[in-house]
Amino acid sequence: MSEKTIPYKIYLSENEIPKYWYNLNAAMKEKHDPFLNPATLKPCTKEELCQVFCKECVDQELDTTNLYIEIPQEIRDFYRMYRPSPLVRAYCLEKALGTPAKIYYKFEGNNTSGSHKLNSAVAQAYYAKKQGLKSITTETGAGQWGTALSMASAYFGLDLTVFMVKVSSEQKPHRREVMRTYGAKVIASPSETTEAGRKILREFPGTGGSLGCAISEAVEKAMTTDSCRYVLGSVLDHVLLHQTVIGQECKVAMEKYGIEPDMIIGCCGGGSNFGGLIAPFMGDKIAGKNNIDFIGVEPASCPSLTRGKYAYDFCDSAKITPLARMYTLGCDFMPAPNHAGGLRYHGMSPVVSKLYHDGLIRAKTVEQTKVFEAAEQFARIEGILPAPESSHAIRVAIDEALKCKETGEAKTILFGLTGTGYFDMTSYKQFNDGTMTDFIPTDDDLKQGFESIPDIAVNK
Ligand SMILES: *Cc1c(COP(=O)(O)O)cnc(C)c1O
Repeated sequence: MSEKTIPYKIYLSENEIPKYWYNLNAAMKEKHDPFLNPATLKPCTKEELCQVFCKECVDQELDTTNLYIEIPQEIRDFYRMYRPSPLVRAYCLEKALGTPAKIYYKFEGNNTSGSHKLNSAVAQAYYAKKQGLKSITTETGAGQWGTALSMASAYFGLDLTVFMVKVSSEQKPHRREVMRTYGAKVIASPSETTEAGRKILREFPGTGGSLGCAISEAVEKAMTTDSCRYVLGSVLDHVLLHQTVIGQECKVAMEKYGIEPDMIIGCCGGGSNFGGLIAPFMGDKIAGKNNIDFIGVEPASCPSLTRGKYAYDFCDSAKITPLARMYTLGCDFMPAPNHAGGLRYHGMSPVVSKLYHDGLIRAKTVEQTKVFEAAEQFARIEGILPAPESSHAIRVAIDEALKCKETGEAKTILFGLTGTGYFDMTSYKQFNDGTMTDFIPTDDDLKQGFESIPDIAVNK
């Protein structure tokens, strides 16, 4: 197909919304190590996981054999409200950069939550409802996940309590109001409402909180409340599974126009959007059908893949979750206070970690002032005001396109534009005022976090 016939925005039709999620775990020849019960150091049983998570999500979490898992009609009905999301050919950006590269981005910010998180929120809320639960709890850092889950909970008629990292709730009061508008109860974390929160407040009075701490509070609340479960917006396999609608839509749209990506780039917090974006392409790579260069991008100030340890660690700072084998900076790791750009989780999805460990993907770090430079350039040229998280991927996409300019290679680059940045104006203000700084932790800085990785035989 000739170049010119590729539209600026490739929209699929409603009946091209995927009917199945793509289970990367089934496609991977070697599976990642199982979750361990921290008390027994034995693999978590289904029963143990079901005390914390919804049953159907646990089934998906443990499924390493079914490559395709059917998306229930009720969830597809919700997806219809904002999917398929557009795949955009960044013609304007290509021209401005003067690059021979062809740049595409998948835009997931076209819904009120402003991010891809809604893809998993609606699935998890649906399964909670189907199980007959009355309420769910969660944590939120930047606020997108809390917003997405508020929307999904409102739709399915569930009560939701969101523990919001304190600094975020102070920086983003409007995010909190959006969640409350959708009916969620929002509590700044650490809070006095849980044992985990009280303990952290005693040890670190005045702390701005962390995701790990907010997770501890939400899990505790779920385990001590009747008919309540905890839901998580990233990291776990079932979340990544739900996000595969992103990659599958990309694949269908690209195949329609005969486009083959040479490179797929995504930002990595807990790894769910990146994993979901690459999943079907990675399945093909594992089967020897392509040789795509997959690049996960993380902040230099929270470098779990590039500088973390591949070890069993807790998913939260109160050490009450199961142990996951992943790249981690240690569950006590806290990003530097000047860190403004999201993606602040200490660990990484076990699936993404395993792919990285096996050399199937690459990882890069970028510094936040460079990330915001890319965000600004993108906003001015392509019109969309990107989320700081997404802008990590933009940074690397632009850098790779500029490399093509030097070499004359016309590579096809696909990146995930995970969301919009309207609620991130405090960070943008720092950038605009010229007060934003970079911070790269020294090995000594990281050592402190590493000391919180459990000292157990499997980590030796
Ligand atoms: C949460 C979030 C991310 C990072 O989460 P992943 O699980 O790594 O995808 C990236 N971009 C946006 C807009 C987000 O809201």
